[in-house]
Amino acid sequence: LKGEKETLTRDDREMERALRPLSFSDFTGQEKILDNLKIFVSAAKMREEPLDHVLLHGPPGLGKTTLSNIIANELGAGIKITSGPVLDKPSDLAGLLTNLQPHDVLFIDEIHRLNPIVEEYLYSAMEDYKIDILLDSGPNARTVQIGLNPFTLIGATTRAGLLTSPLRARFGINARLEYYDAKLLTSIIKRSCAILKTPVEDTAAFELARRSRGTPRIANNLLRRTRDFAQVKGGGVITVAIAEMALAALDVDHNGLDDMDNRILSTIIEKFKGGPVGLSTIATAVGEEAETIEEVYEPFLIQEGYLKRTSRGREATEKAYSHLGIIPKYRAG
Ligand code: ATP
Repeated sequence: LKGEKETLTRDDREMERALRPLSFSDFTGQEKILDNLKIFVSAAKMREEPLDHVLLHGPPGLGKTTLSNIIANELGAGIKITSGPVLDKPSDLAGLLTNLQPHDVLFIDEIHRLNPIVEEYLYSAMEDYKIDILLDSGPNARTVQIGLNPFTLIGATTRAGLLTSPLRARFGINARLEYYDAKLLTSIIKRSCAILKTPVEDTAAFELARRSRGTPRIANNLLRRTRDFAQVKGGGVITVAIAEMALAALDVDHNGLDDMDNRILSTIIEKFKGGPVGLSTIATAVGEEAETIEEVYEPFLIQEGYLKRTSRGREATEKAYSHLGIIPKYRAG
């Protein structure tokens, strides 16, 4: 998906590790989800049972991986991390499952992209902590059932709608992460600045927060680059002027929309008369994958009121027109 993750340098990755919250008390926002998880984790620990399986869904960068690590930490358990597309065949999954200690967490990112055969295998593992393994082939082929240590599966997905219903039904805990408001992102940025020992003005932290598309990962990315500007162009302090300079250099506009957001909106307006227009047509016109537009860009544009999803396709709203300084044709007369 969008290059937010993979463009990290080694320094960036180390910084990312340093900034990652490790306990419930370090984690900012998603209050309702956190309050519930704290109860479920405490109850599981008191009963000395594994935590029920957890499904985390929502747009990328909101903290699904972070939260999964925290859950494992709070359970005092280990965590094994994998992702849907990596689990090619049942034996890949069996290898992971048979190595789990009692009450460990298995985290599967992009769980909506599991191979159906692997997915089916997961059902009995989730339900009864058992898997069937095929021994030998040909006339000697037989299956043996192996018992697993009780474990917690945490599945993460940007597309809960693509999960099959049998899989979805096997998660006892289901949480949807929401975009963060500017106030929460301001405290995340301030926390990161404290860890990085980078002085930041309150107003500058707010400006970065306000323009981070409601996403902690983007907030931390913008902060890293702004810190570079502060180092080279300022006295190491992140002021509003430095933040503005960095945001402009990174093509983040005054409402926090980036280059691709603006291309999507202007394409719909200029090439397709404001819509409605189908997703794949937009994707071809802007040169981005339809899946990425649907998972990364569109949810934020819809939540902020720039875009509408109708049965006939995507439509630009009046807010999109005024954002781009374009007068709608029907009004221009
Ligand atoms: P993806 O679905 O793409 O894997 P994600 O939702 O799992 O994304 P994470 O990788 O967990 O996102 O988080 C992205 C970054 O944002 C991490 O570096 C983490 O430090 C930071 N972060 C996420 N949520 C919070 C939070 N609530 N408080 C502070 N930092 C956070």
